[in-house]
Amino acid sequence: IGVCEANLGRLSERVGVPGYERAGLSAGIVHFGIGNFHRAHQAVYLDDLFASGRDQDWAILGAGVRAADRKMAETLGAQDWLTTVVSQDAGGRSARITGAMIGHLPVGDPEAVTAALADPAIRIVSMTITEGGYFIDPATGRFDPDHPEIRADAERPAAPGTVFGLIVGGLRARRDKGVPPFTVMSCDNIPHNGAVARNAVVGLARLSDPALADWIAAEVAFPNSMVDRITPVTTDRERAVLEAEFGVTDGWPVFCETFRQWVLEDRFPAGRPRLETVGVTFVPDVAPYELMKIRILNGGHAAIAYPAALMDIVHVHEAMAEPAITAFLERLEREEIIPMVPEVPGVNLDDYYESVAERFANPKVADTVARLCQDGSNRQPKFILPSTRDRLAAGAGVTGLALVSAAWCRYCAGTSDGGAALPLDDLAGETLRVAARKAETEPGAFIGQTAIFGELGGVPAFADAFAKALGSLSTRGTRATLLAYGAGDL
Ligand code: NAD
Repeated sequence: IGVCEANLGRLSERVGVPGYERAGLSAGIVHFGIGNFHRAHQAVYLDDLFASGRDQDWAILGAGVRAADRKMAETLGAQDWLTTVVSQDAGGRSARITGAMIGHLPVGDPEAVTAALADPAIRIVSMTITEGGYFIDPATGRFDPDHPEIRADAERPAAPGTVFGLIVGGLRARRDKGVPPFTVMSCDNIPHNGAVARNAVVGLARLSDPALADWIAAEVAFPNSMVDRITPVTTDRERAVLEAEFGVTDGWPVFCETFRQWVLEDRFPAGRPRLETVGVTFVPDVAPYELMKIRILNGGHAAIAYPAALMDIVHVHEAMAEPAITAFLERLEREEIIPMVPEVPGVNLDDYYESVAERFANPKVADTVARLCQDGSNRQPKFILPSTRDRLAAGAGVTGLALVSAAWCRYCAGTSDGGAALPLDDLAGETLRVAARKAETEPGAFIGQTAIFGELGGVPAFADAFAKALGSLSTRGTRATLLAYGAGDL
């Protein structure tokens, strides 16, 4: 049975449906980047909230700037904006249809989007636009005002092409009409995601309208958040499982793990839905939680991705069944990553790591190594290199972290240990490939990419460990190198 409003009453009892009248919803949030993660996370929390009878004026309108968003909008529009979310753990799968989204703004029509953003009913603008979507100069970690897309928006503020240009346009319209600004809520995996979003919005406004930039800096809140739910890419396999197990046909279902977590700073001057009633944790400062999650979970993903790809492993749970990888991850986390993570109120970091390792090993999620390998030029500097830097500053060893960088380098060179060609899904792909191939004879060529490694390439303790690890990967192969590290022998 196809997913749509009219069919909700005809589905199998095993499939959950919205526990509220969707006709009674009205929009309070515009979300940029209706991808899989948003639909597995924020939209599910809101669906729970609406089902409890609360805050039904906080429904979601989608928005986006890319061709992928147009396609998503077409697919979801054809099914009345409903999404099937299938969560899975060792105990099995459960499916529910969520209804918190009620429309999508036209993609490629800045006038319509700005007008919608100026509507006083919209009090939050949230986003999941990937780590690469924030125009951060990787070397400095700051907003890059010289990026061509940002320059274009600065020159033509009335017809913006980026998410930030649209947000600036919406805020300008609100200021001009005397409407209080919305809160901007980033839900991407970026350290200090609120501050990073603020730098992009204020930084872009500054280029064309300094007075507006000052107003935004003074008036708009950008709460930081820590978001967590492992959500793989949807393939035909997921569509087929959904049909076979639940009798549901959905153009773009989302499959994810059962676990979910959202820690959010409580800075919403324009108001917010009562998400604390559906499991969201509000804290004054999210930094300790996000640091823990980004270094231990995202760092763990970023560490196993490339060794697994080099060993021709397709799924993350298969990687976690490979003793060389688990031994490597265990030692890396416990000896190099966790000791650099400051205390988190009420959390034991070793227990947290253990639950993360269990989640990685969940065979039902079928997360792919290829997904974890994407976008390394943005992910490695956020998830791995900060741990490397902290250890170097503390005079501590970086053998395992340098091995992560070396495995990424070898991956970028393009061939697995078994001789398979490896895809390089990264905006900096070509540059990475050239540097990685050069590094085969001159290791400094890869870590000398200051746009990614900053000053690290010139730090002898790191450069030596990197060269040693890279040499071992090419002469002994990935498995033997990981085992050597796990045995304290690299
Ligand atoms: P996805 O590919 O399903 O969706 C990505 C969305 O971002 C799409 O709407 C796309 O159009 C948009 N986008 C990509 N690059 C952009 C750019 N440069 N400018 C504007 N929009 C852009 O991916 P997803 O699984 O939804 O993940 C999105 C983000 O969510 C991740 O990058 C991460 O920061 C965060 N996240 C994901 C997970 C997960 O397990 N998938 C977990 C926690 C957090």
